[in-house]
Amino acid sequence: MLIGIPRETRAGETRVAATPETIKKIAASGKHEIVVESGAGAAASIPDADFASAGARIGGTGDALGADIVLKVRGASPEELARMKQGALLIGLLDPYDAAGLEAHARAGVTGFALEWLPRITRAQSMDVLSSQSNIAGYKAVILAAAEYGRFLPMLMTAAGTVKAARALVMGVGVAGLQAIATAKRLGAVIEASDVRPSVKDQVESLGAKWVDVPYETDEEREIAEGVGGYARPMPPSWMQRQAGIIAERCKQMDIVITTALIPGRPAPRLISAQTVASMKPGAVLVDLAIEQGGNVEGAELGRVVVRNGVKIIGIANLAATVPTDASALYARNVLNFLSLSLNPKTGDFAVPRDDEIIQATLVCENGAVVARKR
Ligand code: NAD
Repeated sequence: MLIGIPRETRAGETRVAATPETIKKIAASGKHEIVVESGAGAAASIPDADFASAGARIGGTGDALGADIVLKVRGASPEELARMKQGALLIGLLDPYDAAGLEAHARAGVTGFALEWLPRITRAQSMDVLSSQSNIAGYKAVILAAAEYGRFLPMLMTAAGTVKAARALVMGVGVAGLQAIATAKRLGAVIEASDVRPSVKDQVESLGAKWVDVPYETDEEREIAEGVGGYARPMPPSWMQRQAGIIAERCKQMDIVITTALIPGRPAPRLISAQTVASMKPGAVLVDLAIEQGGNVEGAELGRVVVRNGVKIIGIANLAATVPTDASALYARNVLNFLSLSLNPKTGDFAVPRDDEIIQATLVCENGAVVARKR
């Protein structure tokens, strides 16, 4: 079988779906040929020669896209789909919430696996691309905020006097939020954090941050807040209003605010109003990690750093791609672990286990049709 790794073509996408480490493992049985498009790893600082030493052939775009199994970071563009084989397996972040994009993949006749829909079960943790990439985004959000902030983060006692520690608020404490707390803590900030899911409180406190409580007033609110499968659900307007009031007050004290709140398949919840931003201290920095889903912060702009009343709002998309070498290393291992369900790296035997719940959950199109939505 031929396994292809094309160069990613989406603007700003620096990651690559395989690394020399994972190529070596896929190639170990000697039964399969691997072709990497020339330059596929360039933006992640992986030269063609390293892929070649790991056992891959370096080829052109058509070679990599024309393989039996294509490993990608992002879904294929119409031009890429036109170069793919009928029945080829495509594994990547295919954006299954985009119905038109999914339809295009189906029409091209590829068998698509969308890694966004990996179930959150223990066995799938090593394949969980959302977690591995959110972890990087949470880290980089703090680094960006620190770079844009005109003061120190840690408390310092110097001969020229004392510098106060920065105060940071993290909103949405999933994988990205937890890493943002841990990173801001290492840099010496004093941190508060809030989430709709009450189960997160202990994790926040164990990282040394203070939990910002938004009390529930009804059983319905409490029940919705528990979420499903580890993911949040949209909260009733009454709770959102209470949250906005509490957060508006906390924001007045904050130097850095990182927002990461997402609800799968829906626009990001609006957590911080323009009025709240206007009430913040000049020099404060907000980083909106939910910007691609519409943003948590009113006034945030996709791909830009905007300044409102002296407060900076960072809306840079795809932060994981700004740490391309490690993001690719982790993504490629996730993909290898997913591929290993079907392709035994030691023996080279290949068979897609159709009844495996991980395969069933991620299969989004085959034989020219979109597979029924599961979420
Ligand atoms: P996510 O990216 O979907 O959302 C980020 C956070 O935003 C979540 O914590 C969510 O509760 C929060 N949020 C949503 N609406 C909000 C609102 N109005 N106000 C405040 N916060 C709001 O989440 P994620 O990072 O993918 O992680 C979700 C959970 O799944 C985490 O607890 C994580 O530890 C868990 N997880 C489990 C596994 C597993 O295999 N068991 C794997 C990965 C993650």
